[in-house]
Amino acid sequence: MRVLLSGNEAIAYGAHAAGVAVATGYPGTPSTEILENLAKYKDVDASWAPNEKVALEVAIGSSIAGARSLVAMKHVGLNVAADPLFTVAYTGVNAGLVIVSADDPGMHSSQNEQDNRYYAKAAKVPMLEPSDSQEAASLVEDAFIISETFDIPVLLRTTTRVNHSKSLVEVDLEQTKREPGYKKNAEKYVMIPANARVRRRLLEDRLKALEEFSEGFSGNKIEWGSREVGFITSGISYQYVKELFPEASILKLAMTYPLPRMLITGYVNQIEKVIVVEELEPYLEEQIKSWGLSVSGKESIPSIGELNPDIIADALIPREEAIENSKQSALPGRPPMLCAGCPHRGVFYELRRLKMVVTGDIGCYTLGVLPPLGSMDTCICMGASIGNAMGVQKATGTKDIVAVIGDSTFVHSGITPLIDIVYNGGITTVIILDNRTTAMTGRQDHPGTGRTLKGIDSHMLDFEKLVKAIGINSVRTVDPYDLKAVRKAIKEETAKDEPSVIIFRRACLLVEKPKGQPYTVNEKCDGCKVCLRLGCPAISWVNGRAEIDISQCAGCEICAKLCKRDAITVIK
Ligand code: SF4
Ligand code: SF4
Repeated sequence: MRVLLSGNEAIAYGAHAAGVAVATGYPGTPSTEILENLAKYKDVDASWAPNEKVALEVAIGSSIAGARSLVAMKHVGLNVAADPLFTVAYTGVNAGLVIVSADDPGMHSSQNEQDNRYYAKAAKVPMLEPSDSQEAASLVEDAFIISETFDIPVLLRTTTRVNHSKSLVEVDLEQTKREPGYKKNAEKYVMIPANARVRRRLLEDRLKALEEFSEGFSGNKIEWGSREVGFITSGISYQYVKELFPEASILKLAMTYPLPRMLITGYVNQIEKVIVVEELEPYLEEQIKSWGLSVSGKESIPSIGELNPDIIADALIPREEAIENSKQSALPGRPPMLCAGCPHRGVFYELRRLKMVVTGDIGCYTLGVLPPLGSMDTCICMGASIGNAMGVQKATGTKDIVAVIGDSTFVHSGITPLIDIVYNGGITTVIILDNRTTAMTGRQDHPGTGRTLKGIDSHMLDFEKLVKAIGINSVRTVDPYDLKAVRKAIKEETAKDEPSVIIFRRACLLVEKPKGQPYTVNEKCDGCKVCLRLGCPAISWVNGRAEIDISQCAGCEICAKLCKRDAITVIK
């Protein structure tokens, strides 16, 4: 039977069919739904970890103990997990270990578009790349087998288009069963230098064997067509090449580390002109050229952003033909913004009014940078806001600096920099925007919500007690809808000569709908535009005065509190 599945659903299906017993990760677009779908299987222990490093360490532990294990994360998550990644390549595995890295070319929901294929090469772990949902499901199974056969973790690298697109998948696979079993083996798993040096050499042997395997791997295949022009491609780029050049020869690579050198060489030698089509960096092209083979690609195909058939056609097909092939109409852009009634809005409004320097972090609240709020000065990576604030304060001595971080991001990687502030005598104020969820990726639970991925009640991390235990004496919790209290808290805490934490706590309105009625603008409005400075999408400007779209208004009352003319009133 075949069913329509997204790449993420297919990975979950394939992993379950392969007998995965432990699955873990941290939510991040475009990978989030892999774990959410694995959590639906009763026989899979699926959980959100506080961050990707912890997730990989859990999966390494369960693999060593004999359970097939999968860890899923977005591309930047692999930076966080890089420390254990490089060493687990040395130790190898017991049961299969698959690491899914979901890259985001075009930065649909990311702060950069790094090409994680280089991680496979740098960490010396084999890599598989699916080009559709069917392949995503079958390659996960292959990945577990490769992992166990060659005693090494396998990187399954996907991209947004594969993760989120739906295509047909055979779902008649028989589930593999594997009994866990732990065997003590300190030489293999304890990486003191003496053991690591041995494992380092063995890793090279395993890579040689993997290269031979890659030559005959069924996922690396030639589709012969015209010998005048041929393509080498992988992942989603294969689909674009197939659509644009149905008559051409194509070498489709599903295993992209180590590369099958003999297969590629034999192919290139039989084609007049070979073009490498790949998203982002010239990862394949550089390696193929380093063997003295003549191929082209990035001279014309962009290495920035996501590819699509139009972009490839523009790069490779003469102009008129390319225009003929390009039938897609562009949709009008819709700028992202904080939701109407978002509990973060008032905090950013007050931070701007108080002219604070604001080091920001990763989450939907990063939208506080956009006008009219415009109240964020930096956003580097998960958890960076707190260290950034400490740095600004060290360099300038200013007290008018706050770090702003969400609850999930604080648990992910905000705790250690807060320890640094206390330990090294910082006086920065840290604002935790606690909306009781991981909102940006679709409302996932985390240790602060007290619920697991399986929906089971768990210990709820107490932020107030945690930051006090770290050594913060000045901690207060404030309702972010109470604008006066927001302003007072920021002013008072930043004036202190000691580090402080303000927890602005109110559930994301997608988790818990506010109880308030919608508001409307009456005839008292004199057009002062103060309410427009909130940037609430429910408020617009019509014929010289404000107007509220009651179908959007969440009834948060913030605009009514700002209006000095009593022109905004609740609908009774
Ligand atoms: S703040 Fe009040 S008076 Fe000013 S534009 Fe908005 S509704 Fe009108
Ligand atoms: S009460 Fe005002 S600020 Fe709040 S959602 Fe409605 S229009 Fe927007």
